[in-house]
Amino acid sequence: MSSSRVALTARVKAEAQRLGFHLVGVADCRPPETYPAYVAWLQHGHHAAMAYMARERNRERRADPKRILPECKSILVLGIRYFQQDAQPMPADGRPRGRVASYAWGEDYHDILVARLRALVAFLEAELGHPVPNRYYTDTGPVLEREFAQRAGLGWVGKNGMLINPKLGSYLILAEILLGVALEPDAPFATDHCGTCTRCIDACPTQAILPTRTVDANRCLSYLTIENKGEIPQDLRARLGEWVFGCDVCQMVCPWNRRAPLEGDPAFAPRPGVPRPLLTEEIRLSRQAFNRKFKGSPIKRTKRRGYLRNVAVALGNAAQPHTVEALREALQDEEPLVRGHAAWALGQIATAEACEALRRALHVEEDPEVREEIRAALAACA
Ligand code: SF4
Ligand code: SF4
Repeated sequence: MSSSRVALTARVKAEAQRLGFHLVGVADCRPPETYPAYVAWLQHGHHAAMAYMARERNRERRADPKRILPECKSILVLGIRYFQQDAQPMPADGRPRGRVASYAWGEDYHDILVARLRALVAFLEAELGHPVPNRYYTDTGPVLEREFAQRAGLGWVGKNGMLINPKLGSYLILAEILLGVALEPDAPFATDHCGTCTRCIDACPTQAILPTRTVDANRCLSYLTIENKGEIPQDLRARLGEWVFGCDVCQMVCPWNRRAPLEGDPAFAPRPGVPRPLLTEEIRLSRQAFNRKFKGSPIKRTKRRGYLRNVAVALGNAAQPHTVEALREALQDEEPLVRGHAAWALGQIATAEACEALRRALHVEEDPEVREEIRAALAACA
């Protein structure tokens, strides 16, 4: 163990904390042991339509950090706790509201973290007095980051597939910097604190959690409401409940989050109206209004069509007759995806007005898939 390496590592960790990272540890660059399990997960199709994950180049790079950075000697693994209490009062007006996963209440974490990662590399280079080969990622790179986080001593991978830190819980965004300089590695986190608990598995609305501490994206609401570009499968729509962007259920029920501090990084503070958006307003968002409302927010990732699709499903699950007018307007939306899910929602409400709106739409609708949705929805009107 070199004392200068230990001292440098301590200075880098102190700087990471000053930059706002709550967790920081160092892992070595050995290939990840969980790679075969990852390949099996892909082979079972659990990545759903995220084809980029299965691309050969990305797969190979996940197998060994040195395929990303041949000079790699250390991986600095960082974590930021993002959870915020939503201080905005929920009006008791009975109007249906959606629910947004808490990581997306505020600003886009990619924007927040990349600036800090860059600053940390600049600090290290200034300390050493020369450039250091590096690559950094925050949820964007071909890196099996949870294993590296565990190896860096930050926590264990829970049954819900999330990295859990015993003090901070699992509402964490992870980031990693592959470095061409050797830092002092941390001891891996050796304990599994899930024990006999199965709360996340029992509470998952779609039974998406697999026995391998991974999630089947085909069923996971986080995938279905964000990455999924097409329809929400009919048999899972009711399971969406109020969720219109992501899902926090398997974290909300985890006892390790109940013990965690309430506040995370203030950069993730909720934007007004985002944590519990008013569904009848959201379904009426024009393209311009959507872009304005979600500029700089992770929600823009779904694009307007995906977001309004989710909002329509949440309106169907709320099944409140006073929302028929908003859904009737959505039957004329420019996006077939939105029209189809609005039709489904009206079928869930199935009042005389909802059924009349569906019959009228069937007269004018030309898209075959939307017509199919309208016909299926009309079955509830017989
Ligand atoms: S995010 Fe929601 S749907 Fe996905 S595994 Fe967790 S509880 Fe299940
Ligand atoms: S809910 Fe229980 S089983 Fe699931 S991750 Fe948390 S401790 Fe582990």
